[in-house]
Amino acid sequence: MSLQPRTVSFVAGERNVFLHILTACNLSCAHCYINPAQHGTATLSRERLAAWIRLFADRRKKTNIIFLGGEPTMHPDLPYAIEVARDCGYTTTVDSNGYLFHDFLERVDPERLDYLSFSLDGPDPAINDPIRGPGVFAVCTENLRRAVARGFNTSIIYTVSSRNIEHLPRMVELLTELGVHRFFIQVIGLRGKSATSPTSPQQRLQVAPEHWLAVVPEVARQVAARGIDVIYPKVYLDPDEVFQCAGRVAENFFVFPNGRVYQCPLCEDYPLHSYEIRDDRLVPTGGINEARLFSLDIPEGCVMNKLLQPDTICYDDRGQPLHRISCCLLKQRITGQER
Ligand code: SF4
Ligand code: SF4
Repeated sequence: MSLQPRTVSFVAGERNVFLHILTACNLSCAHCYINPAQHGTATLSRERLAAWIRLFADRRKKTNIIFLGGEPTMHPDLPYAIEVARDCGYTTTVDSNGYLFHDFLERVDPERLDYLSFSLDGPDPAINDPIRGPGVFAVCTENLRRAVARGFNTSIIYTVSSRNIEHLPRMVELLTELGVHRFFIQVIGLRGKSATSPTSPQQRLQVAPEHWLAVVPEVARQVAARGIDVIYPKVYLDPDEVFQCAGRVAENFFVFPNGRVYQCPLCEDYPLHSYEIRDDRLVPTGGINEARLFSLDIPEGCVMNKLLQPDTICYDDRGQPLHRISCCLLKQRITGQER
């Protein structure tokens, strides 16, 4: 096998359900994307949780469900939700900040959860904790070690920004030492606090294209060489690559506890959702919504990126974009090699 990255194209019929089961969290990360004004402050009841999991279930198609918050382990019924999801045929993932409340590791059978992901934004406390909070690195890595020892399939999610991109190469050793199975590299988004905080303007958090391309693919190759699967966003399309909007060719549902259902994560700070859940039924929204925007073809690639983050696009003398921005849901994967 080679260590060449493979673009994970949208597969016809692929379905992902990103279910935010509450918006509360014990942390206050600098780049938190939760926006209570748009997503509410509700926690789904046990009954509603089960109803909404069943609402999106479709046994004819392979469907992934990702339990999110806020911090999803703060919900006492998360182990129950995992069981409901398994019974519906989903591939199940929990994305946690690492605090693992309510004895999560003891109450969940590692055989019943496909992936347990931990968010970490630096290879040591000096880098991670100014972004995620004092003491977070120690708690997160300690619980990750416990999860690996209990037999969970673990991932780390690292959100790259100008505050931590220089330290990404040092994650190679840490991932190896912790025994992590998968590594997700994400790019800082322009949502929630990173979009609005006067102390962290997007210009200071986002990384330039040449910086991203100089660092991320090489680190990904090094991590894969240690036997760890790596997934990272494509971000910039090569000149001969075809642009595709996931909103047109895949099924993604970003579900919030106030009932909003988006198809594009870039739209989550706006009332542009395609659907709403009313009385536990999925209802299309009318008027201007994200689905109306997906069909616009522009030379810059992703239309929402052009509308919301125009500063990320560079142009040549003729006014043509230097890079086309790929769909933020388009990923590259390098399968880990045997150590
Ligand atoms: S752990 Fe997640 S939900 Fe909680 S503050 Fe950090 S980014 Fe936001
Ligand atoms: S990120 Fe852009 S390309 Fe992807 S679904 Fe949203 S609008 Fe479409």
